[in-house]
Amino acid sequence: MLQSIDVGPTDPILMLLAQYHADPNPEKIDLGIGVYRDHKGRTPILKAVKQAEAHLLKHEQSKAYLGPAGDPTFNTLVTKLLLDDQLTREPALSETLCTLQTPGGTGALRVAGDLIAHANPHATLWLSNPPWVTHRPIFSSAGLQLGYYRYFDPIKRSLDFEGMKEDLRDAAPGDVVVIQVAGHNPCGCDLNLQQWEELSSLMLDLNLTPLLDLAYHGLCTGLESDLLGLRVIQRHHQEWLLTYSASKTFGIYFERTGALIIHCKDKAVTQDVRQEALNLICGNYYMPPGHGASIVTTILESEELNQQWRKELNKARLRISDCRKLLTDSLNGTTAWHYRFLNHQRGMFSYLGLSETQLSELREQHSLYIGTGGRINVAGINEKNVGRVCEALKAVQRQ
Ligand code: PMP
Repeated sequence: MLQSIDVGPTDPILMLLAQYHADPNPEKIDLGIGVYRDHKGRTPILKAVKQAEAHLLKHEQSKAYLGPAGDPTFNTLVTKLLLDDQLTREPALSETLCTLQTPGGTGALRVAGDLIAHANPHATLWLSNPPWVTHRPIFSSAGLQLGYYRYFDPIKRSLDFEGMKEDLRDAAPGDVVVIQVAGHNPCGCDLNLQQWEELSSLMLDLNLTPLLDLAYHGLCTGLESDLLGLRVIQRHHQEWLLTYSASKTFGIYFERTGALIIHCKDKAVTQDVRQEALNLICGNYYMPPGHGASIVTTILESEELNQQWRKELNKARLRISDCRKLLTDSLNGTTAWHYRFLNHQRGMFSYLGLSETQLSELREQHSLYIGTGGRINVAGINEKNVGRVCEALKAVQRQ
């Protein structure tokens, strides 16, 4: 039976990582995989995380099953971290909100996809063009039909907001629009306040449901300002979904920690949606892993660890913008291209818009590993490798 298996394409990020590991060149440079790196190219564990783990080692009482919704304390704290007071006022969270702990942001996206497919099997789910490459398989596996809206203008090398609105006008009532809240992966271009307002009213007019994806919270412009788009949607829409990844924000990538937050129009719908989400989770991974959520909970519950985490996150954010400036200045000095557009991009990624031929030449002749379309993990740039990165880019742009 298994010999007739139809093998689909390998995830391009994982493929790139495998090629990088197989490259014997000791000077190879990885700007492909999306993890934060310090000035020495390491992905360190935050001090706040280490301290939370030390606390857990001493005080954790049990590792008994938590149930498909995960840890209720984690769910409350994450909801309060992300949503404004209106929905999270004490003593209880709003009855129109449902939060579920998930295995990373990816797990949240998949549960959201399953739920949408269950609620409206005919829905088209609209992704940005280009999308985060993994959005595609996550939502296709949930059985959803995909549509694409223009997002990045390859000529102007910036957000194509007019194109985005024009394409979304083709959506049917009941469709879902995936929008990245901050630090768009792969483009590094985000909507401004006015564009969020406009998009929000367009989606209301067309009866489209926003699915907001937040994977770089605190790494773009700041913990509060990165939530700008969420605030706009929260203010105007009754129905929305938010998928949250704690991977980058807390530096706990392999702990697989995230959340799905759903807002419904009333209490009864929220109860039904929650119950069906739990059913779908039971038929999938049954329960999310606990350790990462316990780390986040310990940090958010402690005044001291909370401050420590905010300090470390802010330092990482500032380093990323320094790296972007270092890259832009060095590129402007060495190539005929004008790279000022990179300074308008935000978050962990910059997008150069490179062809497959250029990318494979970068790998094969310069041992420089860059993601699909020319997505660069800006945090991978440092004083030591920036010269070689610029020389390699200059070489492939000559043709
Ligand atoms: N959404 C986007 C846009 C992402 O870039 C990522 C991580 N690369 C995720 C969601 C999921 O993150 P994770 O599953 O690692 O928490």
